[in-house]
Amino acid sequence: MLVDSFGRTATDLRVSLTDRCNLRCSYCMPPEGLEWLPKPELLTDDEVVRLVRIGVERLGVTEVRFTGGEPLLRRGLPDLVRRTVELEPRPRVSLTTNGIGLARLAGPLADAGLDRVNVSLDTLDRETFKRLAHRDRLPDVLAGLAAAREAGLRPVKVNAVLMRGVNDHEAVPLLRWCLERGYRLRFIEQMPLDAQHGWSRTDMITADEILARLGEVFALTPADADVRGSAPAESFLVDGGPETVGVIGSVTRPFCGACDRVRLTADGQVRNCLFATEESNLRDALRDGASDDDLADRWRAAVSRKRAGHGIDDPAFLQPARPMSAIGG
Ligand code: SAM
Ligand code: SF4
Repeated sequence: MLVDSFGRTATDLRVSLTDRCNLRCSYCMPPEGLEWLPKPELLTDDEVVRLVRIGVERLGVTEVRFTGGEPLLRRGLPDLVRRTVELEPRPRVSLTTNGIGLARLAGPLADAGLDRVNVSLDTLDRETFKRLAHRDRLPDVLAGLAAAREAGLRPVKVNAVLMRGVNDHEAVPLLRWCLERGYRLRFIEQMPLDAQHGWSRTDMITADEILARLGEVFALTPADADVRGSAPAESFLVDGGPETVGVIGSVTRPFCGACDRVRLTADGQVRNCLFATEESNLRDALRDGASDDDLADRWRAAVSRKRAGHGIDDPAFLQPARPMSAIGG
């Protein structure tokens, strides 16, 4: 098992399949994009499957989430999903995507065995989308969402990040829109993980603010006060339920004490935390001929060094060198 020195066990593996993206969300990367990882540095499909297999067979991983960058840009994604669901014991397999291309891929992904999908959608307004993501792709995202629902990838979850003065007036419209379509909306507090280091605590829209805005229109009651467990989203029944809305207060309501996540970057580095400042290079070990046992040992050692929390409030906090798009959110 992947146990750290505070007794937490990592069972939820986030695998980044690429650091590239077809959007430029301003809380994530600059409009001009970033210097992408060179292809030879990326894990091949076989390398990804081998490491995921070690996680599943030897280290107690039960959940695999493919992310990025934009994971739909990775060629052969349905095949990777199929090879992952064939592992024993079968992990649950999900995807976090910006939705562009999902209109075409939702069916093949569902056929390959994908269990669930999270689609990021921060605004319903085309102009705001262009301003926030620097691309005119809102219709593609909406088509992708609809296709995911049609393909039976339910519940379709929607992730939204609110930015002050950009889309923070859309909390209520976004929730209403999602409720009408049966999508499960979760708001995520903006974290200091953008490549351009533009995050500021005072600009951030907090979980409290989001709840206050929603509370002006909807009656919200805690849905799972006792069973939050390692789930980062605090969930609220909307107008008595059964529909819910989630709020992920990563900064102001951290859930580090119950964290069960571990990450593998597209270039084969294990990260024990989104905010980790050190990584463990499984790719080079693998390419140097390491055995499954050896790779598993290295992975265990990497997780054992996980810190107690992200420390964003600590004056000594250092933003990790890798931006979110290269870590895998
Ligand atoms: N490209 C895909 C997408 O946007 O869903 C997958 C990768 S993206 C890094 C994963 C999630 O992280 C998205 O829901 C995105 O909104 C969120 N995200 C990116 N940068 C963030 C930040 N600085 N703070 C909070 N969430 C962020
Ligand atoms: Fe791309 Fe996702 Fe980052 Fe937006 S949040 S720029 S869609 S990786």
